[in-house]
Amino acid sequence: MEQMEQWTIDLRNSVTQGAKLEDDFGADAGEVDAVCKVYPMRIPRYYYNLIRKKGDPIWMQSVASINELMDEGSPEDPLHEEEDSPVPRLTHRYPDRVLLLITDRCPMYCRFCTRKRMVGQTSAISEKTIAMGIDYIRSHKEIRDVLLSGGDPLMVSDRKLERIISSLRAIRHVEIIRIGTRFPCVLPSRITDQLCNMLKKYHPIFINTHFNHPREITPQAKEACERLANAGIPLGCQTVLLKGVNDDPVILKELMHKLLMMRVRPYYLYQADLTRGTNHFRTRVETGLEIMQALRGFTTGFAVPQFVIDAPGGGGKIPLMPDYVVKFDEKEIILRNFEGKQYCYPQTSQRYVKDTREIELINF
Ligand SMILES: *Cc1c(COP(=O)(O)O)cnc(C)c1O
Ligand code: SF4
Repeated sequence: MEQMEQWTIDLRNSVTQGAKLEDDFGADAGEVDAVCKVYPMRIPRYYYNLIRKKGDPIWMQSVASINELMDEGSPEDPLHEEEDSPVPRLTHRYPDRVLLLITDRCPMYCRFCTRKRMVGQTSAISEKTIAMGIDYIRSHKEIRDVLLSGGDPLMVSDRKLERIISSLRAIRHVEIIRIGTRFPCVLPSRITDQLCNMLKKYHPIFINTHFNHPREITPQAKEACERLANAGIPLGCQTVLLKGVNDDPVILKELMHKLLMMRVRPYYLYQADLTRGTNHFRTRVETGLEIMQALRGFTTGFAVPQFVIDAPGGGGKIPLMPDYVVKFDEKEIILRNFEGKQYCYPQTSQRYVKDTREIELINF
Protein backbone atom coordinates (compact mmCIF):
# COMPACT_ATOMS: atom_id res chain seq x y z
CA MET A 1 0.00 0.00 0.00
CA GLU A 2 1.16 3.44 -0.90
CA GLN A 3 1.14 5.96 1.88
CA MET A 4 -1.98 8.13 1.69
CA GLU A 5 -1.10 11.48 0.31
CA GLN A 6 -2.24 14.58 2.14
CA TRP A 7 -4.51 15.72 -0.70
CA THR A 8 -6.49 12.48 -0.65
CA ILE A 9 -7.05 12.96 3.08
CA ASP A 10 -8.08 16.58 2.43
CA LEU A 11 -10.50 15.37 -0.20
CA ARG A 12 -12.14 12.95 2.21
CA ASN A 13 -12.78 15.76 4.66
CA SER A 14 -14.80 17.71 2.10
CA VAL A 15 -18.22 19.12 2.87
CA THR A 16 -20.81 17.00 1.08
CA GLN A 17 -24.02 17.58 3.05
CA GLY A 18 -26.33 20.36 4.10
CA ALA A 19 -26.00 19.91 7.88
CA LYS A 20 -22.64 21.63 8.07
CA LEU A 21 -23.91 24.54 5.97
CA GLU A 22 -26.90 24.88 8.27
CA ASP A 23 -24.68 24.90 11.37
CA ASP A 24 -22.16 27.35 9.99
CA PHE A 25 -24.29 29.66 7.88
CA GLY A 26 -27.95 28.93 8.59
CA ALA A 27 -28.58 27.33 5.19
CA ASP A 28 -31.60 25.07 4.72
CA ALA A 29 -30.02 21.62 5.05
CA GLY A 30 -33.07 19.80 3.65
CA GLU A 31 -33.01 21.90 0.52
CA VAL A 32 -29.27 21.46 -0.01
CA ASP A 33 -29.55 17.69 0.45
CA ALA A 34 -32.48 17.45 -1.97
CA VAL A 35 -30.36 19.09 -4.67
CA CYS A 36 -27.34 16.90 -3.84
CA LYS A 37 -29.39 13.79 -4.63
CA VAL A 38 -29.63 14.98 -8.22
CA TYR A 39 -26.32 16.84 -8.55
CA PRO A 40 -23.68 15.84 -6.02
CA MET A 41 -21.89 18.40 -3.88
CA ARG A 42 -18.30 18.27 -2.68
CA ILE A 43 -16.47 21.26 -1.25
CA PRO A 44 -12.90 20.74 -0.05
CA ARG A 45 -12.38 22.32 3.40
CA TYR A 46 -9.75 24.60 1.95
CA TYR A 47 -12.28 26.12 -0.47
CA TYR A 48 -15.09 26.01 2.08
CA ASN A 49 -12.97 28.15 4.41
CA LEU A 50 -12.92 30.89 1.78
CA ILE A 51 -16.68 31.39 2.17
CA ARG A 52 -17.36 34.54 4.18
CA LYS A 53 -21.10 34.54 4.04
CA LYS A 54 -24.08 32.76 2.55
CA GLY A 55 -24.53 33.64 -1.11
CA ASP A 56 -21.08 35.15 -1.66
CA PRO A 57 -19.11 34.34 -4.84
CA ILE A 58 -17.35 31.37 -3.23
CA TRP A 59 -20.62 30.03 -1.87
CA MET A 60 -22.42 30.40 -5.19
CA GLN A 61 -19.81 28.36 -7.03
CA SER A 62 -19.74 25.54 -4.53
CA VAL A 63 -22.98 25.15 -2.56
CA ALA A 64 -25.93 23.26 -4.07
CA SER A 65 -28.80 25.65 -4.82
CA ILE A 66 -32.49 24.93 -5.30
CA ASN A 67 -32.27 26.91 -8.56
CA GLU A 68 -30.53 23.90 -10.07
CA LEU A 69 -33.73 21.90 -9.91
CA MET A 70 -35.87 24.62 -11.50
CA ASP A 71 -34.34 24.32 -14.90
CA GLU A 72 -36.12 21.44 -16.59
CA GLY A 73 -36.20 22.82 -20.13
CA SER A 74 -32.46 23.14 -20.72
CA PRO A 75 -30.37 20.56 -22.58
CA GLU A 76 -28.10 18.16 -20.68
CA ASP A 77 -25.33 18.15 -23.27
CA PRO A 78 -25.63 21.47 -25.13
CA LEU A 79 -22.16 21.16 -26.69
CA HIS A 80 -22.95 17.72 -28.19
CA GLU A 81 -19.73 16.35 -26.74
CA GLU A 82 -21.17 12.88 -26.92
CA GLU A 83 -22.25 13.19 -30.55
CA ASP A 84 -18.76 14.25 -31.67
CA SER A 85 -17.32 11.26 -29.89
CA PRO A 86 -15.82 8.48 -32.06
CA VAL A 87 -14.94 6.43 -28.95
CA PRO A 88 -16.43 6.92 -25.48
CA ARG A 89 -15.09 9.91 -23.56
CA LEU A 90 -13.08 11.28 -26.47
CA THR A 91 -14.31 14.29 -28.45
CA HIS A 92 -12.73 14.97 -31.83
CA ARG A 93 -14.24 18.25 -32.97
CA TYR A 94 -11.28 20.18 -34.31
CA PRO A 95 -9.03 18.86 -37.09
CA ASP A 96 -5.79 18.46 -35.15
CA ARG A 97 -6.70 18.03 -31.49
CA VAL A 98 -8.89 16.00 -29.18
CA LEU A 99 -10.44 16.19 -25.75
CA LEU A 100 -9.92 13.04 -23.69
CA LEU A 101 -11.86 12.60 -20.45
CA ILE A 102 -9.98 10.36 -18.04
CA THR A 103 -12.24 10.61 -14.98
CA ASP A 104 -15.72 11.77 -13.99
CA ARG A 105 -14.61 12.91 -10.53
CA CYS A 106 -13.69 16.39 -9.38
CA PRO A 107 -12.28 17.77 -6.15
CA MET A 108 -15.24 20.16 -6.13
CA TYR A 109 -18.48 19.94 -8.06
CA CYS A 110 -18.83 23.46 -9.43
CA ARG A 111 -22.50 24.31 -9.51
CA PHE A 112 -22.25 25.82 -13.02
CA CYS A 113 -20.43 22.86 -14.60
CA THR A 114 -21.01 22.17 -18.29
CA ARG A 115 -20.58 18.45 -17.69
CA LYS A 116 -23.00 18.50 -14.80
CA ARG A 117 -24.86 15.56 -16.33
CA MET A 118 -21.95 13.24 -15.63
CA VAL A 119 -19.52 14.57 -13.05
CA GLY A 120 -19.62 12.63 -9.81
CA GLN A 121 -22.51 10.57 -11.14
CA THR A 122 -21.44 7.57 -13.15
CA SER A 123 -19.02 4.89 -12.14
CA ALA A 124 -15.38 5.75 -12.72
CA ILE A 125 -14.15 5.71 -16.33
CA SER A 126 -12.52 2.34 -16.86
CA GLU A 127 -8.94 1.64 -17.88
CA LYS A 128 -10.36 0.09 -21.02
CA THR A 129 -12.17 3.28 -22.04
CA ILE A 130 -8.99 5.28 -21.60
CA ALA A 131 -7.02 2.69 -23.58
CA MET A 132 -9.55 2.98 -26.42
CA GLY A 133 -9.07 6.74 -26.44
CA ILE A 134 -5.30 6.38 -26.58
CA ASP A 135 -5.61 3.82 -29.40
CA TYR A 136 -7.79 6.25 -31.33
CA ILE A 137 -5.17 8.98 -30.93
CA ARG A 138 -2.42 6.57 -31.99
CA SER A 139 -4.25 5.64 -35.17
CA HIS A 140 -5.07 9.25 -36.14
CA LYS A 141 -1.88 10.90 -37.29
CA GLU A 142 -3.54 14.29 -37.63
CA ILE A 143 -3.86 14.61 -33.83
CA ARG A 144 -0.98 16.75 -32.59
CA ASP A 145 -2.58 18.10 -29.40
CA VAL A 146 -4.30 16.08 -26.66
CA LEU A 147 -6.30 17.84 -24.00
CA LEU A 148 -6.84 15.76 -20.86
CA SER A 149 -9.95 16.71 -18.99
CA GLY A 150 -12.78 15.15 -17.03
CA GLY A 151 -13.97 15.55 -14.37
CA ASP A 152 -10.61 16.71 -13.21
CA PRO A 153 -7.69 14.66 -14.58
CA LEU A 154 -5.64 15.26 -11.43
CA MET A 155 -8.20 13.19 -9.48
CA VAL A 156 -6.34 10.09 -10.61
CA SER A 157 -3.19 8.99 -8.80
CA ASP A 158 0.20 10.21 -9.99
CA ARG A 159 1.01 6.67 -11.04
CA LYS A 160 -2.09 6.26 -13.21
CA LEU A 161 -1.68 9.74 -14.65
CA GLU A 162 1.90 8.94 -15.56
CA ARG A 163 0.80 5.78 -17.36
CA ILE A 164 -1.62 7.82 -19.47
CA ILE A 165 0.77 10.67 -20.17
CA SER A 166 3.70 8.41 -20.99
CA SER A 167 1.56 6.41 -23.45
CA LEU A 168 0.57 9.64 -25.15
CA ARG A 169 4.16 10.89 -25.19
CA ALA A 170 5.21 7.66 -26.89
CA ILE A 171 2.98 8.52 -29.88
CA ARG A 172 5.17 10.32 -32.39
CA HIS A 173 2.56 12.64 -33.85
CA VAL A 174 1.39 13.91 -30.43
CA GLU A 175 3.24 17.19 -30.08
CA ILE A 176 1.68 18.72 -26.99
CA ILE A 177 -0.27 17.42 -24.01
CA ARG A 178 -2.59 19.73 -22.11
CA ILE A 179 -4.25 19.23 -18.75
CA GLY A 180 -7.31 21.15 -17.62
CA THR A 181 -7.55 21.22 -13.83
CA ARG A 182 -9.26 23.21 -11.10
CA PHE A 183 -7.06 21.81 -8.30
CA PRO A 184 -4.80 24.87 -7.92
CA CYS A 185 -7.98 26.82 -7.15
CA VAL A 186 -10.05 24.41 -5.06
CA LEU A 187 -7.50 22.08 -3.45
CA PRO A 188 -3.93 23.34 -3.95
CA SER A 189 -2.42 20.60 -1.76
CA ARG A 190 -2.76 18.30 -4.82
CA ILE A 191 0.10 20.16 -6.52
CA THR A 192 3.01 18.35 -4.90
CA ASP A 193 6.66 18.27 -5.87
CA GLN A 194 6.16 14.62 -6.70
CA LEU A 195 3.42 15.49 -9.22
CA CYS A 196 5.49 18.29 -10.77
CA ASN A 197 8.58 16.09 -11.03
CA MET A 198 6.54 13.48 -12.84
CA LEU A 199 4.91 15.94 -15.27
CA LYS A 200 8.11 17.65 -16.25
CA LYS A 201 9.51 14.42 -17.68
CA TYR A 202 6.92 14.63 -20.46
CA HIS A 203 7.28 18.16 -21.78
CA PRO A 204 5.85 20.01 -23.62
CA ILE A 205 3.01 19.87 -21.08
CA PHE A 206 0.63 22.81 -20.70
CA ILE A 207 -1.88 23.32 -17.92
CA ASN A 208 -5.03 25.36 -18.05
CA THR A 209 -6.42 26.02 -14.64
CA HIS A 210 -9.70 27.63 -13.67
CA PHE A 211 -10.17 30.63 -11.35
CA ASN A 212 -13.31 32.75 -11.40
CA HIS A 213 -12.92 35.27 -8.61
CA PRO A 214 -10.02 37.25 -7.07
CA ARG A 215 -10.86 35.83 -3.63
CA GLU A 216 -9.79 32.41 -4.91
CA ILE A 217 -6.25 33.69 -5.24
CA THR A 218 -4.65 32.86 -1.91
CA PRO A 219 -1.06 32.22 -0.80
CA GLN A 220 -1.74 28.47 -1.15
CA ALA A 221 -3.10 28.83 -4.69
CA LYS A 222 -0.14 30.99 -5.59
CA GLU A 223 2.29 28.43 -4.23
CA ALA A 224 0.61 25.67 -6.26
CA CYS A 225 0.75 27.69 -9.49
CA GLU A 226 4.35 28.72 -8.91
CA ARG A 227 5.33 25.12 -8.30
CA LEU A 228 3.84 24.13 -11.66
CA ALA A 229 5.42 27.12 -13.39
CA ASN A 230 8.78 26.24 -11.84
CA ALA A 231 8.44 22.78 -13.38
CA GLY A 232 8.43 24.56 -16.75
CA ILE A 233 4.71 24.19 -17.36
CA PRO A 234 3.08 27.20 -19.03
CA LEU A 235 -0.12 28.02 -17.18
CA GLY A 236 -3.33 29.41 -18.62
CA CYS A 237 -6.67 30.13 -17.03
CA GLN A 238 -10.17 29.45 -18.26
CA THR A 239 -12.69 31.62 -16.47
CA VAL A 240 -16.45 31.26 -16.70
CA LEU A 241 -18.53 34.41 -16.69
CA LEU A 242 -21.08 33.86 -13.92
CA LYS A 243 -23.97 36.03 -12.86
CA GLY A 244 -23.58 37.23 -9.30
CA VAL A 245 -20.03 35.87 -9.09
CA ASN A 246 -17.85 37.79 -11.50
CA ASP A 247 -20.05 39.59 -14.05
CA ASP A 248 -18.32 42.86 -13.36
CA PRO A 249 -15.34 44.50 -15.09
CA VAL A 250 -13.72 45.62 -11.82
CA ILE A 251 -13.80 42.11 -10.35
CA LEU A 252 -12.55 40.47 -13.52
CA LYS A 253 -9.75 42.96 -14.02
CA GLU A 254 -8.56 42.31 -10.48
CA LEU A 255 -8.73 38.58 -11.16
CA MET A 256 -6.68 38.88 -14.35
CA HIS A 257 -4.03 40.95 -12.59
CA LYS A 258 -3.80 38.50 -9.71
CA LEU A 259 -3.49 35.59 -12.14
CA LEU A 260 -0.52 37.23 -13.84
CA MET A 261 1.13 37.77 -10.48
CA MET A 262 1.14 34.03 -9.96
CA ARG A 263 2.39 33.48 -13.52
CA VAL A 264 -0.93 32.34 -14.95
CA ARG A 265 -1.86 33.78 -18.32
CA PRO A 266 -5.61 34.41 -18.85
CA TYR A 267 -6.76 32.27 -21.80
CA TYR A 268 -10.54 32.10 -22.22
CA LEU A 269 -13.48 33.88 -20.69
CA TYR A 270 -16.47 31.63 -21.35
CA GLN A 271 -20.02 32.73 -21.80
CA ALA A 272 -21.94 30.30 -19.53
CA ASP A 273 -23.33 27.25 -21.37
CA LEU A 274 -26.99 26.27 -21.53
CA THR A 275 -26.48 23.13 -19.47
CA ARG A 276 -29.49 22.03 -17.44
CA GLY A 277 -29.24 23.05 -13.81
CA THR A 278 -26.95 26.00 -14.47
CA ASN A 279 -29.16 28.62 -16.10
CA HIS A 280 -29.29 30.85 -13.05
CA PHE A 281 -25.63 31.67 -13.77
CA ARG A 282 -26.18 32.93 -17.31
CA THR A 283 -25.54 36.56 -18.17
CA ARG A 284 -26.56 38.41 -21.31
CA VAL A 285 -23.87 38.41 -24.03
CA GLU A 286 -23.60 42.22 -23.83
CA THR A 287 -22.21 41.86 -20.29
CA GLY A 288 -19.22 39.90 -21.58
CA LEU A 289 -18.66 42.36 -24.40
CA GLU A 290 -18.73 45.28 -21.97
CA ILE A 291 -16.17 43.53 -19.79
CA MET A 292 -13.90 42.93 -22.78
CA GLN A 293 -14.24 46.59 -23.75
CA ALA A 294 -13.23 47.55 -20.19
CA LEU A 295 -10.12 45.34 -20.32
CA ARG A 296 -8.66 45.80 -23.79
CA GLY A 297 -6.36 48.82 -23.82
CA PHE A 298 -6.92 49.52 -20.16
CA THR A 299 -4.61 46.75 -18.98
CA THR A 300 -1.70 44.59 -20.15
CA GLY A 301 -2.54 42.94 -23.46
CA PHE A 302 -1.87 39.49 -22.10
CA ALA A 303 -4.10 40.10 -19.11
CA VAL A 304 -6.99 40.03 -21.55
CA PRO A 305 -8.55 36.61 -22.15
CA GLN A 306 -10.45 35.75 -25.28
CA PHE A 307 -14.20 35.92 -24.76
CA VAL A 308 -15.84 32.87 -26.34
CA ILE A 309 -19.16 31.15 -26.67
CA ASP A 310 -18.92 27.40 -26.93
CA ALA A 311 -21.57 27.12 -29.62
CA PRO A 312 -24.64 25.08 -28.67
CA GLY A 313 -24.88 22.12 -31.01
CA GLY A 314 -21.15 21.46 -31.06
CA GLY A 315 -19.77 24.28 -33.22
CA GLY A 316 -16.76 24.77 -30.99
CA LYS A 317 -15.54 27.94 -29.35
CA ILE A 318 -16.40 31.11 -31.21
CA PRO A 319 -14.61 34.34 -30.25
CA LEU A 320 -16.53 37.54 -29.65
CA MET A 321 -15.18 41.05 -29.51
CA PRO A 322 -16.57 44.50 -29.05
CA ASP A 323 -16.88 46.14 -32.45
CA TYR A 324 -13.68 48.02 -33.24
CA VAL A 325 -14.47 48.35 -36.96
CA VAL A 326 -16.55 51.39 -37.83
CA LYS A 327 -16.32 51.03 -41.61
CA PHE A 328 -14.41 48.68 -43.89
CA ASP A 329 -14.29 48.94 -47.67
CA GLU A 330 -12.06 48.61 -50.73
CA LYS A 331 -10.13 51.79 -49.87
CA GLU A 332 -9.83 51.97 -46.13
CA ILE A 333 -10.77 50.71 -42.74
CA ILE A 334 -12.10 53.07 -40.09
CA LEU A 335 -11.26 51.81 -36.62
CA ARG A 336 -12.32 52.75 -33.14
CA ASN A 337 -9.67 52.56 -30.41
CA PHE A 338 -10.19 51.59 -26.76
CA GLU A 339 -11.06 55.18 -25.86
CA GLY A 340 -13.63 55.50 -28.61
CA LYS A 341 -11.51 57.69 -30.92
CA GLN A 342 -11.58 56.93 -34.64
CA TYR A 343 -8.61 56.18 -36.88
CA CYS A 344 -8.26 55.44 -40.58
CA TYR A 345 -5.97 52.80 -42.05
CA PRO A 346 -5.76 53.08 -45.87
CA GLN A 347 -5.70 49.83 -47.84
CA THR A 348 -3.04 48.97 -50.37
CA SER A 349 -4.31 48.58 -53.91
CA GLN A 350 -1.70 45.93 -54.69
CA ARG A 351 -2.91 42.42 -55.16
CA TYR A 352 -0.45 39.82 -54.03
CA VAL A 353 0.41 36.78 -56.11
CA LYS A 354 2.64 34.03 -54.77
CA ASP A 355 3.80 30.93 -56.64
CA THR A 356 0.89 30.13 -58.88
CA ARG A 357 -1.66 30.33 -56.10
CA GLU A 358 -3.41 33.62 -56.05
CA ILE A 359 -4.22 34.79 -52.59
CA GLU A 360 -7.83 35.78 -52.98
CA LEU A 361 -8.82 39.11 -51.62
CA ILE A 362 -12.28 39.70 -50.31
CA ASN A 363 -14.40 41.52 -52.88
CA PHE A 364 -16.61 44.26 -51.62
C1 LIG B 1 -12.03 23.46 -25.96
C2 LIG B 1 -11.85 22.25 -26.72
C3 LIG B 1 -10.62 21.96 -27.32
C4 LIG B 1 -9.43 22.87 -27.22
O1 LIG B 1 -9.70 24.10 -27.83
P1 LIG B 1 -8.58 25.23 -27.93
O2 LIG B 1 -9.29 26.40 -28.53
O3 LIG B 1 -7.50 24.70 -28.80
O4 LIG B 1 -8.08 25.51 -26.55
C5 LIG B 1 -10.54 20.80 -28.05
N1 LIG B 1 -11.58 19.97 -28.19
C6 LIG B 1 -12.77 20.23 -27.64
C7 LIG B 1 -13.90 19.28 -27.85
C8 LIG B 1 -12.96 21.37 -26.87
O5 LIG B 1 -14.14 21.61 -26.30
S1 SF4 C 1 -13.79 21.09 -11.86
FE1 SF4 C 1 -14.44 21.45 -13.97
S2 SF4 C 1 -15.39 19.50 -14.61
FE2 SF4 C 1 -15.29 19.50 -12.37
S3 SF4 C 1 -17.24 20.33 -11.68
FE3 SF4 C 1 -15.81 22.06 -11.79
S4 SF4 C 1 -16.14 22.91 -13.86
FE4 SF4 C 1 -17.02 20.83 -13.84
